[in-house]
Parts: sequence; structure tokens; C-alpha cells
Amino acid sequence: MQTRLALNDGQSLPQLGFGLWQVPQDQTARVVREGLAAGYRLIDGAAIYGNEAGLGEGLRSTDVARDEIFVTTKVWNDHHGHDAARRAADESLKRIGVDYLDCLLIHWPCPDHDRYVETWRALIELRAEGRVRSIGVSNFMAPHLERLVGETGVAPVLNQIELHPRLAQADLRALHRRMGIVTQSWTPLGQGRSFDAPAVQAAAARTGKTPAQVILRWHLQLGCAVIPRSTRAAGLAENLDLFGFALTDDDMAAIARLDAAERTGPDPLLFS
Ligand code: NAD
Repeated sequence: MQTRLALNDGQSLPQLGFGLWQVPQDQTARVVREGLAAGYRLIDGAAIYGNEAGLGEGLRSTDVARDEIFVTTKVWNDHHGHDAARRAADESLKRIGVDYLDCLLIHWPCPDHDRYVETWRALIELRAEGRVRSIGVSNFMAPHLERLVGETGVAPVLNQIELHPRLAQADLRALHRRMGIVTQSWTPLGQGRSFDAPAVQAAAARTGKTPAQVILRWHLQLGCAVIPRSTRAAGLAENLDLFGFALTDDDMAAIARLDAAERTGPDPLLFS
């Protein structure tokens, strides 16, 4: 049974969804259709993924009602600033072919541009206008979150960050809890680097699940939202089958010990 997490604006989001990074445009509609048919209700897109048209085509080709589906997209780094961010939202709405987004995120803070507060003000307006139901951020670190809230009084509903057993992000997760922000894990499988770890193998053997399912279950039990990616129907189904088993406290602690503060992606302080 899929669980939903409460958001700080009164909305809620499915804890588990699937992501569309690196899914070719000509396969995206199929992946979206198959994901929805398998039971997913959250789709994680982004303007930079170059497949928003396919995302929209998938939404139009499914039997699942639009209001049951949580659609996220993101404002890319070249659209920071008030007017550019509003333009980015317009363009995403048009490419996907929907009249509202469930969630719009600032993709990266790009601190060297120093415009993310201005971008955030545009997202606050878009939410007030009803074009976006919820607004959030991605790859924000503590000083960026604190500045957003300090200058606008509006906390993001979620922060989508790189998080997997080798980058457990305990401090940022604790800050999110204090600020009422949901943590959503990207690259949750960590490029498979922990699949062979004894802690993961032992939990997989005990539960009869795959290493990927054990790691995704670890995210859920941490209280994080999670968005694995697979373009295969079997992979989508495997990553959805996380609700009939549980990790023990010992499993959780053993997986926590794999943390090596090791990123697969860029450092948010440097990326723009
Ligand atoms: P992921 O951790 O979901 O891993 C995807 C890889 O693992 C693929 O190669 C896939 O074939 C493989 N895989 C999937 N399921 C598997 C399974 N059950 N067993 C074995 N292998 C499996 O990585 P990701 O795509 O990097 O991240 C997930 C999503 O997060 C993206 O699609 C995107 O939506 C989002 N994301 C966001 C940002 C950001 O900056 N906000 C950055 C990267 C990714």
C-alpha cells in the first residue's frame, strides 16, 4: 500500500515515485504509462531532462485521472531570477500540456548567481495564482534553506537531494525535520555502489528481496520520499514492491554505517 507524506502547505505527496532523468524523449510516454499502470502516482521530471513533452503524452495516454497523479518539474539553472523563472514555469506547463503542476522545484541553488531568493519569490507567486499547487527546492544546503525562509517566510515543501547509503545526509535530514520540509532522495540506489555491501546483502537474504528493494525500503523507513528510475516495466514493478516487508533496527543501523559522505553528482555549492 502506497503511503503519502503530509506537506507543510496542507497538500500531500506519494512517498514513492519514479524519476525521468536520462529517459529518452521517445520512450518517456511509454515509461510514464507503464509506471502509472504499475501503481506509481508521482512522476519526477525536469525541464533539463528534455522529455517534458513525452511526460505530457504519457499523462494523456493513461486511464489514471490527472488529479490522482503528482507531477513535479524543475526550473533549470539558466532560468534563475523572477521573470525567467516565471517564463520557465510557463514553458514547462506548455510542454507537458497541463494547466497546473503539483510541484515546481528550483533545480539547483547556484549560489554564485545569488538569485535563488528572487527565483523563490516567483514560485511563491505561481502558487498563489494556482498554476502550481506546491513549491520546493532541490540540492539546497542549510544556509540556502535558512536564507529562503528568513527572507520570504515561506519554507519549501520538500528538498530533493542526493541521498543513498554512501551519502546518508543525516544533518540535512535533521534540519529538514526541524523546518517541516520533506526530504526526497535522488539517485536513491547510489549507482549500485552499495548493492554488494554485507549489510545490504544480509537484509536481502533475510527478507527475500533484492538489494535495490532493501535500499529503497531503507529510504522509506528513514521517512524520506524516494524517486528511483527504471525504464523497464519489470524494474518499475520491482521498485514499487516495498510495502510487504520491513528492515529491523539492526538492518537500519548497519546500512547507516555505509555512509562515506560520497557524492555521485556535483557539489551544490559549486554547481551552476
Ligand atoms: P537511481 O538511483 O534511481 O538509479 C537508476 C539506475 O539504477 C539505472 O541505471 C537503473 O537501470 C538502475 N536500476 C533501477 N532499478 C533497479 C533495480 N531494481 N535493480 C538494479 N538496478 C536498478 O538514479 P537516478 O536516475 O540518478 O535518480 C533517480 C531520479 O532522481 C532521476 O530519474 C531524477 O528524476 C532524479 N534526480 C534528480 C536530481 C536533481 O538534481 N534534483 C539529480 C539526479 C536525479
